[in-house]
Amino acid sequence: MPADSSAATVLADVEAFCREIRPVEELCYVERRHNDELVPLAKKHGVLGLIVPAELGGRGVDATVYAKCLARIGREGTGVRTFFSGHTSIGQYPILRYGNDEQRRRYLPKSAAGDCILAFGLTEPDAGSNPLEMTSTYRREGDRYLLSGVKYLISNGSIADAVVVFAYPADKTGSERRMSAFIVDTPGDTFVAEEITAKPGMYTADTGMFEMSAHPVPTANLLGNEGDGFRIAMGTLISGRLSVAAGCVGVIEDCLAEAIEYAKTRVQHGKEIGRHQLVQEHIAEIELARAASDAIVTRAAEAKRDFDADPGNPELLAKSDLAVAEAKLFAANAAWRAADHAVQVFGGRGWSELYRVGRHLQDVRVCRIYEGTDEIIKLKIAASVLGKDWAAFH
Ligand SMILES: Cc1cc2nc3c(=O)[nH]c(=O)nc-3n(C[C@H](O)[C@H](O)[C@H](O)COP(=O)(O)OP(=O)(O)OC[C@H]3O[C@@H](n4cnc5c(N)ncnc54)[C@H](O)[C@@H]3O)c2cc1C
Repeated sequence: MPADSSAATVLADVEAFCREIRPVEELCYVERRHNDELVPLAKKHGVLGLIVPAELGGRGVDATVYAKCLARIGREGTGVRTFFSGHTSIGQYPILRYGNDEQRRRYLPKSAAGDCILAFGLTEPDAGSNPLEMTSTYRREGDRYLLSGVKYLISNGSIADAVVVFAYPADKTGSERRMSAFIVDTPGDTFVAEEITAKPGMYTADTGMFEMSAHPVPTANLLGNEGDGFRIAMGTLISGRLSVAAGCVGVIEDCLAEAIEYAKTRVQHGKEIGRHQLVQEHIAEIELARAASDAIVTRAAEAKRDFDADPGNPELLAKSDLAVAEAKLFAANAAWRAADHAVQVFGGRGWSELYRVGRHLQDVRVCRIYEGTDEIIKLKIAASVLGKDWAAFH
């Protein structure tokens, strides 16, 4: 793994990774199969532990540099970026932020080295927007917990070696029934995972589900204290949302580059289509989406960087939570519209998985759903400016 962790070096390594992953990703996409070369290539370029401190085998970049890395990765497709969100933004991040030294030492170096792929398991078939409605449970048995339940729509969920999982105590009720978070090693007969393949895009990325049947987890793998789960989940989602928003900037950048090139070369009615004013309107809309998304994501990344430097500060937490929610909502919608404009510039070829813009359009749609749907993020933003008493749900 490269030792130099200056921002420029890390970004150069991300660039090298992106250049190598592109042809592989394109082939896997048209063949509709999982990209098995992503992890080996990311390992080769030392980009599997971007936020992990150097002393634990990572690159130790802050949220602003990490956002730039994810924007670059996002150009290669929402599927590639989603892998990094699952592994790093919501996999390594909660261990880094809420884990103890021993947990960090056990999981972060091997995950940064690519020897332990991570995921985050909050959603269940009957608990999505409201994770409090989850039904997964745990009970203590000696020096281990036994976890039971089903987790659904989990990025990297069928390839992960360890998952940060949330569950309620089976033996508690009322106000004592508060969820906890665990680092769950996946091998074993009591943990059965499968890939979800029925999806309209992101074919190269793993989306999985798994069932735990009294799956044993050492007590040493409890993250934080019992009952801390909801706080850990919500804190982790700030990191996850920023990664989605940053990836969307990359999607828009790529749509712009593709649309410009196509508009300058495709000729109809005797001239390059980029000379038709209505085509220029599409280009202008994509550029506007890029500039605005880049600005709002940069602002959010700076707020997150400041919070990470002072994690006990409730004001910085609230500020970064809001800024990141705004960035996620804005950039996800801007990317969706930008991809639509780019597809229009490409005409019939745009409506094809053989072209990058068509793939972006179908893949980026999920960014308006995961890590908080548009609706949930809007309600969150409104509650934070109206005041908690006005929250549409609790
Ligand atoms: C490809 C993919 C990858 C994912 N990766 C992960 C992952 O790694 N880890 C993980 O834990 N989860 C993951 N998810 C799950 C994702 O976070 C959920 O799908 C999302 O939170 C929405 O939950 P739901 O699908 O159950 O929809 P629901 O919660 O059932 O929502 C359905 C609709 O109702 C709306 N709605 C719900 N409640 C309200 C309300 N109070 N007011 C207004 N509207 C409301 C929603 O906005 C939505 O439009 C992933 C999902 C996908 C598709």
